[in-house]
Amino acid sequence: MSAPDPAQLPPFLPPTPAGVTRAAELLRTGVVVALPTETVYGLAAHALDEKAVRQIFSIKGRPLIDPLIVHGLDVDFLSALAHFTPQARELAAACWPGPLTLVLKKCAVVPGLITAGRDTVAVRSPAHPLARAVLQACGLPLAAPSANPFGYISPTTAEHVRASFGSKVPWILDGGPCAVGLESTIVDVSNPNKPARLLRPGPITAESLAQILGQPVHSPDSTSRTDEARGLAAPGLLTRHYSPRTPVALLKPAEPPPAMPSQRCAWVQMCRQNIEPTTPGNTDIFWLSETGNLPQAAQGLYALLRQLDDAGYAKIFCELAPATGLGVTLNDRLRRAAGQG
Ligand code: AMP
Ligand code: MG
Repeated sequence: MSAPDPAQLPPFLPPTPAGVTRAAELLRTGVVVALPTETVYGLAAHALDEKAVRQIFSIKGRPLIDPLIVHGLDVDFLSALAHFTPQARELAAACWPGPLTLVLKKCAVVPGLITAGRDTVAVRSPAHPLARAVLQACGLPLAAPSANPFGYISPTTAEHVRASFGSKVPWILDGGPCAVGLESTIVDVSNPNKPARLLRPGPITAESLAQILGQPVHSPDSTSRTDEARGLAAPGLLTRHYSPRTPVALLKPAEPPPAMPSQRCAWVQMCRQNIEPTTPGNTDIFWLSETGNLPQAAQGLYALLRQLDDAGYAKIFCELAPATGLGVTLNDRLRRAAGQG
């Protein structure tokens, strides 16, 4: 990726009322603005303005078959765009604002460009105070996929967005690092006669969703893990996604990386381990949490992967998390980073 010349670009929009007002003005005139949400930074545009939405696809290099999530302040606002089922209302009441995306039957007003021609639309009410302030100030539904080139690691700081896009995205509202650091959970609750279906694991776990609904949630079928099969349910959830350019290899919890004497490698530990790498000297050790705190690991994962991707390692070894709760989501993203989704 070519390094942009920072002198040619406007400064970040500040996290102040003036910054929010400017972001809202730009969005109202059809300009794409990057803004923070609690999950990752989004590339936002007026969701009902096809020209603006087209720019999102073009800036990201995102295929038109990959539908976008529409953000709004609350159920009332988003009810003009999507038909809320009883399950959707229950989940929204318990989790919104927050990192949960609901797939619902769409209303006629939603352009096919947003939904990739489907009769459903994905909607979410973000919790980040700046995202909410912008939604309030512009009064628009905002399409906002992650502000990264398609397939690359999602951004969790304003600097990440600038590093990827430079002058292609001059307007970035700077809210500091995202608190959650992983993309939202996506659940299909479009059919009131069918159980909720988890399309993408995320910060809100399948167990929590089941508890809220009082019944189990359908999870992705491990026998249909091909892109083709998955594409039918949730397009865009490719096996290789959220990936650094550097090859990523996965390690079981507490497993050391194999000896790689001739290559400089990075070893990312979920929880700090006191184990020596098999080829000391050639393997630099990093950890996402001193104590194995999974929310902390999630928050720092993408920033560390970006840092290591820029550092010229031959390979990044990543320890998987224990496969429960948020660990399931972390492992999903790590598998996709390794191209094994
Ligand atoms: P993101 O890239 O984080 O904005 O998430 C967008 C993802 O949401 C897409 O790649 C799809 O997997 C999923 N999605 C969006 N709209 C729909 C929909 N109508 N039906 C199923 N999945 C959807
Ligand atoms: Mg994305």
